[in-house]
This record gives sequence, structure tokens and C-alpha cells, in this order.
Amino acid sequence: MEKFVYLFHEGNGNMKELLGGKGANLAEMTNIGLPVPYGFTITTQACNAYYESGKTIPTLVEKQTLEALLRLEEKMGKKLGDPKNPLLVSVRSGSVFSMPGMMDTILNLGMNDETVEGVASLTNNPRFAYDSYRRFIQMFSNVVLGIDTYFFEQLLEETREQKGYASDPEMTAEDWKEIIVGYKEIVKKHTRKDFPQDPKEQLFLAINAVFDSWNNQRAIVYRRLNKIADHLGTAVNIQSMVFGNMGNDSGTGVAFTRNPSTGEPVLYGEYLINAQGEDVVAGIRTPQPIAALKEEMPSVYQQFADTCHRLEQHYKEMQDIEFTVERGKLFILQTRNGKRTAQAAIRIAVEMVQEGIIDVKTALLRVDPDQLNQLLHRRIDDSVEKRILAKGLPASPGAATGQVVFDADEAEQLGNDGKKVILVRPETTPDDIHGIVASQAILTSRGGMTSHAAVVARGMGKACICGCEALRIDLKAKQFSVGDMVVNYGDVITIDGSTGEIMLGEIAMIDPELSDEFQLLLSWADKERKIGVRANADNPEDAKKAFDFGAGGVGLCRTEHMFMDIKRIPIVQKMILAETYNERMEALDQLLPMQQGDFEGIFEAMQGLPVTIRLLDPPLHEFLPDKEELLVEVTKLQILDPDSKELAQKEKLLKKVRQLDEFNPMLGLRGCRLGMVHPEIYEMQAKAIFYAASKLAEKGIEVNPEIMIPLVGHVNELKQMRELVIETANKVQVETGRSIQYTVGTMIEIPRAALTADEIAEEADFFSFGTNDLTQTTFGYSRDDAEGKFLQAYIEHKVLPENPFAVLDQEGVGKLVETGVTLGRKTNPKLKTGICGEHGGEKSSIDFCYRTGLDYVSCSPYRVPLARLAAAQATIRHELNREEVYTTA
Ligand code: ADP
Ligand code: MG
Ligand code: MG
Repeated sequence: MEKFVYLFHEGNGNMKELLGGKGANLAEMTNIGLPVPYGFTITTQACNAYYESGKTIPTLVEKQTLEALLRLEEKMGKKLGDPKNPLLVSVRSGSVFSMPGMMDTILNLGMNDETVEGVASLTNNPRFAYDSYRRFIQMFSNVVLGIDTYFFEQLLEETREQKGYASDPEMTAEDWKEIIVGYKEIVKKHTRKDFPQDPKEQLFLAINAVFDSWNNQRAIVYRRLNKIADHLGTAVNIQSMVFGNMGNDSGTGVAFTRNPSTGEPVLYGEYLINAQGEDVVAGIRTPQPIAALKEEMPSVYQQFADTCHRLEQHYKEMQDIEFTVERGKLFILQTRNGKRTAQAAIRIAVEMVQEGIIDVKTALLRVDPDQLNQLLHRRIDDSVEKRILAKGLPASPGAATGQVVFDADEAEQLGNDGKKVILVRPETTPDDIHGIVASQAILTSRGGMTSHAAVVARGMGKACICGCEALRIDLKAKQFSVGDMVVNYGDVITIDGSTGEIMLGEIAMIDPELSDEFQLLLSWADKERKIGVRANADNPEDAKKAFDFGAGGVGLCRTEHMFMDIKRIPIVQKMILAETYNERMEALDQLLPMQQGDFEGIFEAMQGLPVTIRLLDPPLHEFLPDKEELLVEVTKLQILDPDSKELAQKEKLLKKVRQLDEFNPMLGLRGCRLGMVHPEIYEMQAKAIFYAASKLAEKGIEVNPEIMIPLVGHVNELKQMRELVIETANKVQVETGRSIQYTVGTMIEIPRAALTADEIAEEADFFSFGTNDLTQTTFGYSRDDAEGKFLQAYIEHKVLPENPFAVLDQEGVGKLVETGVTLGRKTNPKLKTGICGEHGGEKSSIDFCYRTGLDYVSCSPYRVPLARLAAAQATIRHELNREEVYTTA
């Protein structure tokens, strides 16, 4: 016979699936001898059985419930509904995961016109008895009978006013009696029935209501959002009442065993004297800080503090505890792992290791890598109030305050004058780089998560909001508006790139901190993890940041960003527009020392750690002006100044832009195809790398360059480009008389490359999986178009489980990665493998990389700490078969 009902002492803390979180912990606390009011739990299985029998309580469940009730009555020496000595209980829902939307707790069940008299004479406190009864009517009518609380509150308020009272404690027993009469009328009016007087009827109606709440709209939506299975069901806890509202030697409260916001190891919480249940959180009266209990009830406080300590030692986790004091006696009503901020999570995990409560691996499993983002950027102080003006895409995390400017030159000017500015544009282009550099943050009304503004801002670690379509930007008038709110040039705004929120004025901010505890936790992570963590860095500043955050190298250095510098763009354009070989070489010779300088800076920052440098990748037209804008200018000049030199120049430029125009630039002349068509460009880049390497070697600084050929689809492409690199290296070595250590490899970002990885690996020292492009080419999506037009709908309608650009598609794209690794190692056992691109900083993708046996992941410098932790968790999860338990606020 299936057991559907467990008395508290029959269960334990491991039975969460059956008893729900609340029930399992009540059982556990009972068994370790804590003062828990006695009771029993009806299982989650009973909930499922209820639904299977068409929403009726099965006979077996009813029978076992009545038996358990009998045991409870015996134990308490009271009977439900006994007018002389009535048992009163609470009915509390509780599923495996705590969920909002489930039924609110009912207190004081068992109260009726007769038992209330019993309670009054037993306690010698009629006021308390009638207050408890009216609370019960109100709660029961609301959660079980579905009558809005408003009707009851309204009557209460009217009565109070009539009598000239300021608050509830002034109400007398007679006043409450009057209220009860009114309450019962409200019930009759709304349900056309009398308020149920039979306590057993009350009990089963309440149990029904708990089961029903499992499938109310709010609960269903919550489960869907949080991926909680529908079949889990909720348990019901029936527990004898204790009363915090019995006078000034009674009270109720909640407390955390450590500060959930900072992690400081002190009791943190609040209590209210002479109050019941939810009064503390309901905000009717202002509660006292828990420390005050020490003065008010010293022995209760001591007992409570001891209990907190004991619970924390027992669960080996920070606890969130509910308690009630009835006439000087302490009762514990609930305990659970306490939610906490990232900062607190780190401090608590580390200090619990130092206190000998948990081991290092457990500590590592307690901190959610995703939550660390909060700590690695300047962020808005959560404690201040903010009014949100508009919301866009959270394109690059961090927060910033500054004056609004609408033009890159102005941004630069004001920035150089030491002003803090935020650049607001419909979108940005490479021409705006100097303005972006000078700004605190970027805000655009168009473009997605990979628009120019977003990519550049993320690379620079600057806050950025993109695609905020609510902004109407008027560049001429130098203002933008949202609805009828107008923001002018020079006005101060604050943006939060982690949430996409835009606010007027300045908002208080907190600096990013890598606290001592954080550093320590990460050093533990480094010892555990079996997979390397590198960073994507395109310039010396990013490389330094990466190094400081503990990156083991640069996994991707994108050289095109060096070309987009405002001072270099004209030279790059000259190179592109060159008509003769000599003209082109002239431009390249000018670029060479600049590139060399960049590489020197990056090599130096990385102090001998490997640096993967990708040769030029994007289509050349990205370095030229926009075709349409150019066309407009040419047309204008043709009318206004047809003989000008400028027109001739612009026409030439337009011709070239048209030549380079492609139907589908993503699949056009780019990547290694550029190197195949214009080998002199790659040659110049290789030279710059080797010159930089030998110059640093001269200074005694170790360097470890890895030269990466992008977008290879056929082994012959790599063969030729590799030869070019080797020849160049040989030339430079002869010229400088120094030998340079380097490797040559490729980015795997075309399905064909993954499928023929065995051939390609014979020409490669390493593979770096470019999973952004590999996702685009595998799905046949262009990311910007997909994210802008249909991905959101796909995810909403569950066509795709997730955005494959944020979370690696393990079944599809992942299979290509696996194939690439396996085939590649077959012909080249020494092949080094890694992943670069956003996936390298996402925890489930990192787990995949670990399982696939990659040597490292590479992500943006700001995500390096997160990746170090996630990599350690992957190792612990799979080698020790343990799961993370995050309790995030
Ligand atoms: P929630 O899950 O919303 O916290 P709870 O079931 O914990 O709901 O109960 C709500 C409030 O009622 C809490 O303050 C709790 O301590 C109090 N409470 C629950 N059962 C009892 C009881 N048997 N005696 C006294 N107070 C109780
Ligand atoms: Mg609770
Ligand atoms: Mg690519």
C-alpha cells in the first residue's frame, strides 16, 4: 500500500521529492531534536494521485490523512474541533522547489464559533482568540474560497476609523467579535453559503486548494520560465499552531544565519513582538532588527542563536529560518538554504571552508558563474531607487553616467576635456571609434547584440545598450525623445548595460571588486580545473586586463580591429584602393610598424603566455564608406561642383566600393580567401608578428605567437597560407638573426573544415573553433538577421530551446566540434584545440568543451573569472559526479 502521509518524525531532509522542501526540512529538524511544532506531510505523490482521480482526494489519501491527524491529536493532547481543548493547525504548501504562485499558508485552521470560545477560556485571553478567528476567516476565505482580501480589509478599516483607533492592537475582544460577524456576512454574500464550521471540512477544503494551486496560471508560468517539470506536484504540510500573538512575551520573525547581501557571518533578520505569521513581511508594523531580541528576550535570543548555529552546522549551508516565540518559548517553523548576492555567495563559500564546515570542491559548487557578472563591472547600487526612461538590448554589461552627445568628434573633444559622456547614435561605424573610446558608454537606437557598437563596446569592456527603438534621435536638433520626454545634448543620463535600462540623471554606482575571497576561490578553481581559460583581446589594454583576471593566454586576437583605428583607416583605404602593386605595398609598409607596435604591446602584456593572432578576416568593404552615403555625396557634387577634384576622388571611391559590393558578404571574399587573393596583406601581418616577437626576444621577454588562418574550408587553403607564414618567418629570422618559436593553425568555422579535419590537421598545429561563425554556417543563419527578426519567436515557440549564439547548440554545432576534434587528433595527435567566441564564456558550453576534451576555452577578458569557475565546476561535476547547488538572490 502506497504511503501518502508522513508524520514529521517519519521523514528526513533527503526526502524533498516526496515531502517537498518545506516538509523534508521540518522532518529533518524534528529528528535532530529542534523545537518544531508537530505535524505531518501529505506527499507530492498524493497531489499527482489527486489529479489522476479527476481532482478528488483519493480514499487512501483521505484515510491516511485522518490517521495522521489522530496521531497528531494524541501527541498534542488536543482534538480538532473540540470546543473545550481544540487543536489548531496551519496548512502549508511546499513543492520540491520553492515557487511563487503556490497557495498561501492558512493559519489557525480549526477555528469556529465554538472552538473560539474554548481558546478564549483556555488562554484566558478572549482578545487573542477572536483576533485569531477573524484572521482565519480572512485567510481561508481568500485562499480557499477565492474572496478578495480587499472586502475584509475595507470592513476592518471602516470599523477602526469609526472607533477612532490608529492600529489593530487597539482593537478589543468585543471589537473583533463584531468584525467576525461582518466577515461572515461577506462570506455569505460572496459564496451564498455560511462559512464552513466543521473543522474536518475546513481541513479537506484547504488540502484541495493546495493541490489546485499547483496548476494555477501563475505557477504554470513560473514552472515554464524556470524549467521545472509539471509532474513534480506539491506536498501539503499540516502543522499544529504556535502563537506569536499571545502578548508581549510572544513574537515572530525571520533570520539568516549570515548576512545575505555581504556574507558577513552575523545573524541577520527581523522580528515583531505580539504578531503572527506573515506580519513581519507584510509591513503592517515596522519590525525590529534581530539584534534587539538580545535585549528584549535574552534567553530566547541565546536559544535562537544556538539553534541557528546548529542548523548551519547541520546543513553545512547558510540558512534562512522562520521562528515564533510563544509565551517565552522558541519554536522553529522553517529552514532552507538562504538566497544571497554574488558577493555574499563567494564570501560564505570561502569562509565555510576556512571554518572547516565544507571542503574546497563544495565551495566551488556553491557559486553560480553567471552571477559573477554582477561583480566584474561597475554597477548600479541596488539600494537606490531608479526611474526607467526606456529599455534596449543589454549589449555590453556595466553601468555608466554621462552627458549625452550625438557625434563622435564631440565625444572625443569633451572626453579629452575630462568630461564624462555617453555617445548616443542610431548606430555606430568604424568612423566613430575615436568617439567610442572617449565615451563612458554607447547607446544606439538600432542594431542587435552583434552590431558594431555592441562588439566594440564589449571588446573595450564599456557599457552599451543597442537597438533601443523607443528612442527617437534627432541628430540635427541634438536631442532624443522617448514618448514626450525630451533629452538634450549635455543632459546627464545613466545606462545599465547589464539590464538595458536607461535612466535620467546620475545614479549611484559601485566599482567592480575582485575581493580577497574572490581571488582565493578562483585560485582553488584553477587547481581543480582540467581545461585552460584564455581571453579574446585585440589590444594591449584588453590583454593586460585578461592577464590580471587570470587568463592563461590570448585565444583570439582579431587584427581587423587594429585596422579600424581612426588614424589608420585612411591608410587601410589607400591599400584597398591601390591600383598597382607598388601603391599597395606602399600602404602596407606604412601599416606594418603600426601592427608591429600592437603585437609588441600584447606580447608584453601576456608575458610569454600563448597569443593566438588571427590574420585579417572581414570583407574589405567594411573599411570603406557606406555605399549609399557615398552615392548621395557624389550626386550632390555632380550638381554643385561637377569639375571638382573631390568629385573625381569620390567617384573613384564609389567605383571601388561597388566593385567590392557583395551579395552576401558573410560568404564572400573574406577570411583566408583574402589572403589567397591578396597574399601581401597576410605577409605584412606575419612580418609584423615576427618583427614584434624578435624585438621582444631581444629585450629578454618571452613570446609565444600562434598564427591563425581564418575561415579555412579546404586543406589547400591552409597549406598555401601556412607556407606563406613559414616563408615570411624564415625571411625575418634571416634578417634579424634570431630564431622565433611559433605555430600555425586555423579557425574551424565552416562545416566542411570540421568534416575534413583529418586532412586539415596535417597542416595545422592547432584548431580554434570559431563557434559564432560555425553556428551561422551550420544553421545557415546570419546572426544579426536571425536575432533581429525571428530567433526570439523561435525561442518563445520552443522551435529552439535557446539562442544558439549565446548557448552552444550541442546536438548540431557541437557535433561538428566533436567531429573536428576526433578527426583532427587522428592525423595529428599533438593538435591543440580550443574554442573562441562568446560560447567560451558560457557555463553550459564550457561544460561541453570539457566533455569534448578541448584544451582551452577563450572568452572576453571580463568573463575570464566566470570561465575559470565554470571550468572547475565541469571537472568536479563529471569526475566526482556532483551537482552544483546555487542559492542566488
Ligand atoms: P511561505 O512559504 O510563504 O513562507 P509558510 O508556510 O512558511 O509560507 O507560512 C507563512 C507564515 O506562517 C510564516 O511566517 C510561518 O512561520 C507561519 N506559520 C506557518 N505555520 C505555522 C504554525 N504552525 N504556527 C505558527 N506560525 C506558522
Ligand atoms: Mg515560510
Ligand atoms: Mg569567423
